[in-house]
Amino acid sequence: MQKNYTSHGPDEQTHGVASGRVVILGTGGTIAGTAEDASDNVGYRAAQLGVEQLLVAIPPLANYLLETEQVAQLDSKDMDFATWQRLALRVEAHLARPDVAGLVITHGTDTLEETAYFLQRVLAPKKPVVLTAAMRPATALQKDGPQNLLDAVTLALDPRASGVLLAFAGQVHSAEQVRKIHSYKVDAFASVDGARLACIEEGQIRWLAAAPVTGDAVGTKALSASSIDAWPRIEIVMNYVGANGSAVRALLAQGVDGLVVAGTGNGSLSVGLEAALREAQSAGVSVWRSTRCDAGPVTSSTEALPSAGALSPVKARIELLLTLLWQKCGAQSR
Ligand code: ASP
Repeated sequence: MQKNYTSHGPDEQTHGVASGRVVILGTGGTIAGTAEDASDNVGYRAAQLGVEQLLVAIPPLANYLLETEQVAQLDSKDMDFATWQRLALRVEAHLARPDVAGLVITHGTDTLEETAYFLQRVLAPKKPVVLTAAMRPATALQKDGPQNLLDAVTLALDPRASGVLLAFAGQVHSAEQVRKIHSYKVDAFASVDGARLACIEEGQIRWLAAAPVTGDAVGTKALSASSIDAWPRIEIVMNYVGANGSAVRALLAQGVDGLVVAGTGNGSLSVGLEAALREAQSAGVSVWRSTRCDAGPVTSSTEALPSAGALSPVKARIELLLTLLWQKCGAQSR
């Protein structure tokens, strides 16, 4: 369902920011979560409030030209391909509207970096698509959602912003670099290798770097052409002390299209795990090597299994998913 939140004219200038309409797509998460007890920061239920209810709690947003749409209502630990497909198509449709300056997506923090990367690779939008979230529910004594959402709208209207971004705890991160790095702190996200893009301070965006210009969009054709059931199955396995490849063989027996291995260090693998992964590769499974380290690339070498570059295991999984999905549809993914 779509709703107009305010009725200002399209040319209106507010708070010194560029004019234009921002569409806010709700998907749930802690930002829309509620607890019985305001002092309870963990015993809450995510995805309880609609996106419009979130806006009501932020009086300064009344000055903006906003529109809302509830695309999903879930705890992002349960994010799924069907919701990704729907979300990508709704984002694409809104971005195509000349009256829309940018988009905001409210999301749970747990899988936010995956949705952000997915949307970036599928759409590579010129206009900003700003994800935001919260670590505390909407009922908390010290809720972080309202400020994050206000900052996200500010960022979505900034003419220097483009691509899929995260506005969170006063910081701006790119979809490529962002990772959730803390399970509880309100400042829960970081950009790998110090690649944070900007700070948002009292409604002012202080850019530290230009928004990244990223490669071509994979596009939504393959997403809409195939049913979700036909999307490739990509699983993540890890190297650790005693890893012997039995998990890989179990997956092979079940049927899997691709495997991302979170190797140790620079993508190193135990002898047993590497042997199992090579068996998988010989059986036609695509195998990419990533690292379980919090940052840094896996350097490629001709003797080793293919490297996923600097992508984290979860983002490498998305890249491999899109690559295989696109191959299936007989088109080029990059
Ligand atoms: N489990 C919640 C979710 O990802 C956590 C959050 O939103 O912070 O939706």
